[in-house]
This record gives sequence, structure tokens and C-alpha cells, in this order.
Amino acid sequence: MAKPKFKQRCALCKKNMVVIYSFRQFPICTECQMKRIDKPIKDPKYKKLLDIPQKLYEESQFLRNIKEAYLRFDNLTANQVAAFKKVVKELKEKPKETVEPAETEKKEKKEKSTS
Ligand SMILES: [Zn+2]
Repeated sequence: MAKPKFKQRCALCKKNMVVIYSFRQFPICTECQMKRIDKPIKDPKYKKLLDIPQKLYEESQFLRNIKEAYLRFDNLTANQVAAFKKVVKELKEKPKETVEPAETEKKEKKEKSTS
């Protein structure tokens, strides 16, 4: 995607910077979003799908968004389920360094004191 990216402060903690890909995106940092989606899944069907290592959620904003969508609407579309499975599989196979955009956010925290 050739969309311009920019950064905005997290709307919840007002501390961490968030990389924004779309104007409709809610600015929330990994830390806050992880807290927000850290809720039990009641539906056994989705529990099986969404019960993946926390590390994968930390690595992928996409996965966090899917889980958040589930928590909000209590279900997911077939497309969301398929995309979720695909990304989980990719993350498990991928070497760590190529995973984004969570990496960018972490870097941002370290650079904060220099600016
Ligand atoms: Zn935050």
C-alpha cells in the first residue's frame, strides 16, 4: 500500500506513538490494545481460533484488531476468520525481524527521549 503513514499519540495512554495507516484508524498503542483485548472468549468455536500465544497478538496489529472485533460484535465473518488463520500461520513461519508494524512502535519508544 502506498498510503502515507503518520504517527499520532495513543488516545488512551497519551504516551506511546502509534503509526497510523488510515484516517479511520483509532490511535491506540500495542500496550493499550493488548490490555483491551485481554478478555476471555466464551464461544468455544472462537476460543479455539483466537486462543493463540499472546506474543502473536503483540506482533500483529491485524490480529489484535480481529480479536477486538470479535469482542465487540461476538462473532467474525468468514473472511475475517480466514485472514486471521492466514496471518497466524505466516507469523509462526516468519523470522522475527520481518514482522511489522509492532516493531516500529517499539523503536519509537526508545527514540522518544532523543527528540
Ligand atoms: Zn496507549
